[in-house]
Amino acid sequence: MRQTDLVERVLYYDPRADEAVLNKAYVYAMTAHGKQFRASGDPYFAHPLEVAAILTDLKLDVATIATALLHDTIEDTFVTYEDIKEKFGDEIANLVDGVTKLSQLELFSERTKQAENFRKLMLAITGDIRVLLVKLADRVHNMRTLGYIDKPEKRLRIAQETVDIYAPLAGRIGMQNMREELEDLAFAELDAEARNSIVTHFARLDMQSGDRVGRIADQIKRKLAELGLEARVYGRAKRPFSIWRKLQTKKLSFEQLSDIFAFRVILGSTPDCYQALGIIHTNWQMVPERFKDFISTPKPNGYRSIHTTVIGPEKQRVEIQIRTQEMHDIAERGVAAHWRYRERVPDQGLPDSATFGWLRDMVDLLERGDTAEETLEHSKLALYQDQVFCFTPKGSLISLPRGATPIDFAYAVHTDLGNTAVGVKVNCNHVTLHTPLKNGDQVEIIVTKDATPSPVWEKFVVTGRARAEIRRFLRHAQRDEHVKLGRKILEKAFTDEAREMTEKAMEKVAKKLRLPTASDVYADVGRGALRGHEVLEAVFPELKRAGKPPKSGGQSGGKAKPISIRGLTVGIAYTLGQCCHPLPGDRIVGIMSPELGTVIHTIDCAELDKAHDMNDWLDVSWGHNAAESGLSVARVLVRVRNAPGSLAAVMTAIAANGGNIFNMKVTSRNPLFFEFTVDIEVRDVTHLQNIVGALRVNDAVESADRVREAETAT
Ligand code: MN
Repeated sequence: MRQTDLVERVLYYDPRADEAVLNKAYVYAMTAHGKQFRASGDPYFAHPLEVAAILTDLKLDVATIATALLHDTIEDTFVTYEDIKEKFGDEIANLVDGVTKLSQLELFSERTKQAENFRKLMLAITGDIRVLLVKLADRVHNMRTLGYIDKPEKRLRIAQETVDIYAPLAGRIGMQNMREELEDLAFAELDAEARNSIVTHFARLDMQSGDRVGRIADQIKRKLAELGLEARVYGRAKRPFSIWRKLQTKKLSFEQLSDIFAFRVILGSTPDCYQALGIIHTNWQMVPERFKDFISTPKPNGYRSIHTTVIGPEKQRVEIQIRTQEMHDIAERGVAAHWRYRERVPDQGLPDSATFGWLRDMVDLLERGDTAEETLEHSKLALYQDQVFCFTPKGSLISLPRGATPIDFAYAVHTDLGNTAVGVKVNCNHVTLHTPLKNGDQVEIIVTKDATPSPVWEKFVVTGRARAEIRRFLRHAQRDEHVKLGRKILEKAFTDEAREMTEKAMEKVAKKLRLPTASDVYADVGRGALRGHEVLEAVFPELKRAGKPPKSGGQSGGKAKPISIRGLTVGIAYTLGQCCHPLPGDRIVGIMSPELGTVIHTIDCAELDKAHDMNDWLDVSWGHNAAESGLSVARVLVRVRNAPGSLAAVMTAIAANGGNIFNMKVTSRNPLFFEFTVDIEVRDVTHLQNIVGALRVNDAVESADRVREAETAT
């Protein structure tokens, strides 16, 4: 095909088409591909030109045809996105960019595991369905020329991918012809023997019975004409692949499989269709359960037609599809035809509303499925819209929730990558680490060996994995600090008592205090959970001082709580801190105050910073039966997807784990998430941990954390 042929083809169906753009794209792409060649030995440019030709069969708009011509330039030549944008504008540049991203992904998609990802990505990137149409046409041409590829394993991979991904996608957007061609080309590669046997069998049938298809078509046409209906009737044998699939799924032999012929009856109007149906059923016996009326109930992708199977004139089962020309057009060209028919509506602004229309088509088509299986798949699609798909520099696909940042990306790849990240390049440009990623971004994390995560990251990451890893790292870092500090405190305590702090002594302490190792002892001392003197006494009981912590001062007769606390004088009044909500199982401290009596705080409560006078500190712990003797209230901060059912899921998870919801308060809400605190009655820390754990694994829940900081208390 030459330049003028292509332009003429487009002008034939779209007289308003902008020839200049087509000519410019033709020359530009041809020049860019220069002396490149295809495996077939053809100049490379023959390929984009054929892809464009396939799309003219679908009567697509100028931008799509130009995109087809340019579709391999970014990937395979020195041409950049910016070049295309400058020469052809945003619309075409973005379309070419979309096709390029799909092609890059294709390079790295391994079968099976990646196939599903690939499909997701296609749909996520293909905000403009024209990208998908160009990609499908590209695949059609590559399949037509598949035989030129030398390596058998490469041919197999491409053929399998075609069956797994492209053919179903073509079918889903209503392009049945394309679907069948793709399947059949792939079939020839994947199982040439099976295909040959079917083709040979057809040939034999034809020899035996002559032009059976032609004869049956004539008979149908004649019967309709007798009653004044003018119709065009096409007959054909079904494609080898669809026959083969039937043989497989229905477990029938070829001889048993009767409906291998399909006829299309095209009429002038919808009432004519029903009349034709009546005539056909009157003349030939209808096969029960094969009748479907997609005219009164169109398929979600817009397909309309009446299907029926009858015992035909030659006692052979034949499938007949009855439809008007417009229905036929939509059946053949799917979503492309939709576009065409919409364009005919006068005064529809271009190109913005056209672009919007495409998007709506895509969403419409994909949101509704016609079988249960498809509906299921489509409900998954809604979820993909919450995701972004990005690439590593080597092309692996990483899928992340929408709003994810380079830090989320880094942790999704590997913990070490996250922990040592210092910067990032997205699509080769430096951006900040909290920049939200977009679909198709290529993300290169810059690392430095000794770098460590910043606590600030926790504020902007969106994935649970990144958050957990950052916390874990910071907790470990903090523990290291505590160990160091604890060791210093103990060294001084030992020195003060003129004792020596030996390894052996410390192991003994650990055992006695039921801590796993000596460094746990240091850590506990470092964070203030254990006092230096306690450790010393554990080694040297003779150092024990009588009446060590000041325990007096509480008024007796205060209202006793059901939860027993050791270390308090019997009858002393105490309350549990409203700041930190201590639970049985937490390490706790009592602080005496003249106004409140003794208040029990968790060891890490910020309120403790205010209690400087160590004489006010009481060494307390939970009684043996604290967990059994009553319920405590714990506060949990939950962040859920802002979606129907999220809240109910949280309630259910809490109740299912024996928690009783006491109080709830929404703290923030945005289109993606909302956050609330929930007060839950629990027995102890373990019980709470079970509940929080159950929340964290719940799909609706983004994060769930116990609230212990004073500033978040009401
Ligand atoms: Mn291509």
